[in-house]
Amino acid sequence: MTFVPEQSGKNAWLEKVREIVWQTPVVDMHTHLFPRRFGKLSLTGMDDLLTYHYLIAETLRVLPMTYDEYWSLSKERRADLIWQTLFVERTPISEAARGVVTILRRLGLEAKGRSLAELRANWPDRSEAGYTERILDLAGVGQAVMTNDPFDPEEREIWLSSVSTARPGENRFLAALRLDALLNDYGSLPVRLNNWGYRADSVLTEETVAELGRFIKEWTERMRAVYVAVSLPDTFSFPDGSTRSILLERVVLPVCRDMGLPLALMIGVKRGVNPALLEAGDSVGKADIRVVERLCADFPHNKFMVTMLSRENQHELAVTARKFRNLMVFGSWWFLNNPSLVGEITRMRLELLGTSFIPQHSDARILEQVIYKWAHAKEVIAQVLVEKYRDLSEAGWPVSAADIRRDVESLFEGNFWRFKNLKL
Ligand SMILES: [Zn+2]
Repeated sequence: MTFVPEQSGKNAWLEKVREIVWQTPVVDMHTHLFPRRFGKLSLTGMDDLLTYHYLIAETLRVLPMTYDEYWSLSKERRADLIWQTLFVERTPISEAARGVVTILRRLGLEAKGRSLAELRANWPDRSEAGYTERILDLAGVGQAVMTNDPFDPEEREIWLSSVSTARPGENRFLAALRLDALLNDYGSLPVRLNNWGYRADSVLTEETVAELGRFIKEWTERMRAVYVAVSLPDTFSFPDGSTRSILLERVVLPVCRDMGLPLALMIGVKRGVNPALLEAGDSVGKADIRVVERLCADFPHNKFMVTMLSRENQHELAVTARKFRNLMVFGSWWFLNNPSLVGEITRMRLELLGTSFIPQHSDARILEQVIYKWAHAKEVIAQVLVEKYRDLSEAGWPVSAADIRRDVESLFEGNFWRFKNLKL
């Protein structure tokens, strides 16, 4: 089957591309999901969905109570207020609110006109074996990469106790070693590290550097992490003599290089712009692309997977990826994960990079969110691909279903693994 515009209507081709997009399992390369064996770190269900920080921010804009009054309530009561505010008193037209509607529909629940009590009561049985697997299947996610913080005492205990007891369905979760605590808040770490048997000092002596390297290596192996990651502020600069800069250069980059692991940099978060909003109070700032250029140029044997949070950074990031094979661009992250921006960014990346990028990751925090995050992203990606295949076929290159399959496989899965295994 080839794409002949005169013979195949746009809808026929959209159907074909959609079908392929849905048949191709995704490696969801950055999430905050945990399988059930991680206990209360694993978030799922209606109340967790409604109290997602995206929806909290939207609710608190219009809720007639103070922030403190809101935060003093129980999770269930907060969920009630969010449902009442965004779904009963208003139309759930924002991306995050529509996402809840998509999830409910795919779980067989009609949302409109239903009470929250009814929706809670009719929710599929989450204690059932295979529930997690069913949700991943509904999203078309083959494997999901977690965000694993080795400095978090609670998570650390779980890894030390039950890492080998993955239940069926849980082997679809891969680990990523998250180093925000090390790179963004080193001051608080030496005491903890000493308690755990690492001779780390607040001064970055040779011994401390070696011990931090040992820590990262041991935890990467324990978790079988597929990459190392950090989120960074819009003001991130390198090299600048800061503790972060020294730790990156002397600890993190050498370990990643030795272990052949990519370092994922998520750049552009402005933390706590409104601290009263707690976890909903982070914002976005334009970062300096020269930092990415510098890292890729100065560390040609390191692999960098980079996503940037501001729309203004997207074009220069795609151009930078043309210059460095050790740079993999990924995702339309957080405030960019809206159909209008995913469409714009994906279109531009296809134009500048062909299919050599990773178009999306869900960033899901609550299990069922993978359903909407992927349903919405796949629809936009399919539409952009149809547009590009049409342009290409009009230029004189008929596109076959096999071509489309190969492209989508690269975008959703192949590029991630090839880059992870790339030898530099
Ligand atoms: Zn994230």
